[in-house]
Amino acid sequence: MALVSVVTALKLPSGRQGFDADTLREVTQKSLNSINAWCKKSGLKLSHLKSHCVMFTNRKSWSFDQPLKVDGAEINVLNSTKFLGLTLDSKLNWNEHIDNLCKKTKCILMQCRRAVGPTWGFKPATMRWVYNAMVKPVLSYWSTIWINGTKTKRNQTLLNGVQRLANVIITGALPTTPGTALDVITGTPPLDLWLSEEAAKGALRLRDLGHWLPPPAGRPSTRLTSHISTNDRLLRDIPECNIIREERTPALSIDQTFQVEIPTKETYQEADYEQANNVLLRWIPAHKGHEGNETADRLAKNGANNCDEPELVKLPIPCGVCYAALRRKTLSDWCRTFAVCPPKVFYTMWRDRFSRGLLKMGKRDLRVATQILTGYTELNYHLRKLNRDIAPTCSLCQEENETVEHVLTRCPLLWELRVELFDSHVTTISAILERFDITQLVKFMIRSGTLKSPDMIND
Ligand SMILES: [Zn+2]
Repeated sequence: MALVSVVTALKLPSGRQGFDADTLREVTQKSLNSINAWCKKSGLKLSHLKSHCVMFTNRKSWSFDQPLKVDGAEINVLNSTKFLGLTLDSKLNWNEHIDNLCKKTKCILMQCRRAVGPTWGFKPATMRWVYNAMVKPVLSYWSTIWINGTKTKRNQTLLNGVQRLANVIITGALPTTPGTALDVITGTPPLDLWLSEEAAKGALRLRDLGHWLPPPAGRPSTRLTSHISTNDRLLRDIPECNIIREERTPALSIDQTFQVEIPTKETYQEADYEQANNVLLRWIPAHKGHEGNETADRLAKNGANNCDEPELVKLPIPCGVCYAALRRKTLSDWCRTFAVCPPKVFYTMWRDRFSRGLLKMGKRDLRVATQILTGYTELNYHLRKLNRDIAPTCSLCQEENETVEHVLTRCPLLWELRVELFDSHVTTISAILERFDITQLVKFMIRSGTLKSPDMIND
């Protein structure tokens, strides 16, 4: 048998300060020896092949004067290690852990992509469920610990890349469509904000169970921020998280034994349960001296009169109230981010009331709706940006650039369709948005036959 993971807390001997690799090696070797001795005594064997050493430091160059050994065999020195599914890198910046997570979740999404095309496959609502129920839990695993990793631009871009891929599969959008717009269309907050919320929920659960420690005392000696401080800071801003909550201590008792006996059909017949469980209901007149009834009356009166010293009972609030408050904070942070950098066309076309029905649409309609709202369409003006050989002018009238606005409001060859669907032969975007919902815009765009995708057959 081999012991794979060895976790030791090291403290430098008093009087020695700063980074000294050889002293650390000495102390670690002593700990290894005592662990090895204990293993041998307990009939276990410490495997030198499966054990390795990671030095948690920001220093680029350091070395041991001699290697760490188990029973004379050398132990490898690595830059990272895995512990309970968490990749701990030597700089504790969580870059490697987030890289692994993104790789893993993108693999799951690419498997889904085989079953989903731009206009066929799972319905958008089903695909969104797959993302929420199967991919996001993989991402949020232990996020309470590695939440500081999401604060860097590098990791935010990587994580939002995963969400972007999921949103492209859900909506069938063109690959160049901005991620911020797709987040709004599918109603999914950016991953870094959502992960902060999940991390805070984890911290809250640990705090309720009494396992949350106070942040490290004194000034931090490195640039690293403790995950405890980060989560505490978030929870401090939310009043609901700082009042008494109902405590749900896990009630797991393995000492007691329970036996369940299911009698056979014959036992039931022999015991004659029907006779044994004879229930008789009888009406009793009130205030006529019946003993049971009089006792119940007396106790009720005592209860009603016993209000001389009212006692203030502090009832705890359910955890759901805190979770809802955390969700509100995520949504308000998201609105603020979105207000700063909305894609230009999206800002003109977007209406809050559109979002309600978007995910209930079919695959093809949602793809067209996404194109109309974001301006990243299969119309010549946008396709020109992807392929210089395509002329940007309207394929019907050849007069103007073929944009969403031109097709919807001005193209002279579409006036009949415009009269039929928008009650006017020439109109403006704002006039259409005032009166019609997104399904009418989608209908117009499909019937106009201007979209270049082969699946967009004019019906
Ligand atoms: Zn035209």
